[in-house]
Amino acid sequence: MRQSDLFMDSSILYRSTQKYFDKKLQDYHLTYAQLPVLIMVYEKEGISLQEIALQGVYDKGTITKNVQKLESLGFIEVLPSKKDKRSKELYTTTQAKSMMVDIYNLRMGWWKHLNSNIPSELIDRFSDLFLSITENAKSLADQNDTLIQFYDHQKVNLKEYPDHISTVLYTGGCNFQCSNCPRKDLVFLKQNQVELPLSDIENYLEKRKGMIQAVCIKGGEPCMHPELGSFLVYVKSLGYKVLIETNGSYPENLQEWILEGYVDYVRLLIKNAPDAYEECIGIHPYDVSKINKTIQILKESNIEYSYVTTVYSKFHSQEKLVSISKWLSDNTLYEIKSGDVDIQQLEDWISKMKVYMPNVRIGGIS
Ligand code: SF4
Repeated sequence: MRQSDLFMDSSILYRSTQKYFDKKLQDYHLTYAQLPVLIMVYEKEGISLQEIALQGVYDKGTITKNVQKLESLGFIEVLPSKKDKRSKELYTTTQAKSMMVDIYNLRMGWWKHLNSNIPSELIDRFSDLFLSITENAKSLADQNDTLIQFYDHQKVNLKEYPDHISTVLYTGGCNFQCSNCPRKDLVFLKQNQVELPLSDIENYLEKRKGMIQAVCIKGGEPCMHPELGSFLVYVKSLGYKVLIETNGSYPENLQEWILEGYVDYVRLLIKNAPDAYEECIGIHPYDVSKINKTIQILKESNIEYSYVTTVYSKFHSQEKLVSISKWLSDNTLYEIKSGDVDIQQLEDWISKMKVYMPNVRIGGIS
């Protein structure tokens, strides 16, 4: 017999349980993922999304996805709370109520199978012990459950996401220290800076579905926040397109979100030619390998992306811009924005860049 490994064993138990229920629930078009949510609603009619998240240690995106699925199958109704119109209450429908006996029987059958050949006093002791272990796990998970924080919100924007009406959210903090940074207030957050209530942002997004088409995330540097991932799941579950504007120095997070399908458009801010990066971003020395990785990820992805460089006479020249173009060598859009350089001068430099970047043009948002 193999040695016991609690984590591996609980993972095997979870996956076996999932397989069993997924098969048995096929006729109801349900999967195991929705089952705990359905049972929680049935056992506490009028429960809120927040209560479900707390009880089940779910992130907001997972809950929203499962609730939407249950709603589309006609098993639950989501109604505005009578006490507070901004929150929602969940109720099971008559259709769900009529099948709950079957669900409980299924659950009992599975539990009996798991217990077979084990004395009942051992099972009782195991159940108590397992509950204590789960409570310990939950308390630490709750402590570590950081949510993304936004410090600015431009409610409607017609330019950020090409050909879409978007809303723009700004994260705080950045790993670069560009001397010409237009949002130093977001990079060097004041100690008394207050984040926007996430519930206000969520209410806004839920109410504007259909009117606004895309959510743009800028900073600071959004990709430095791994917790942004669960917010993106939530935004996608509402049907919005997502644009991320990044300095390209967190390729791992960006790649994960692209592969998961959370991102539709990336705008990559290119600061300068590789040999002049550090003077622009205020970090000495700076190795551009992370930026290279981001460029490679974008080129190999199926999503839309573009590059932007804001040009300053202190840092840039025709030689530097041609060197950037050679480095990127790409057919995608490359926007050159003037920081303090004459537009005529930029036009002249751009004409030399076209050999490597045929879609380079004046414009850009930074
Ligand atoms: S990367 Fe962007 S946000 Fe960060 S310091 Fe530079 S300009 Fe500011």
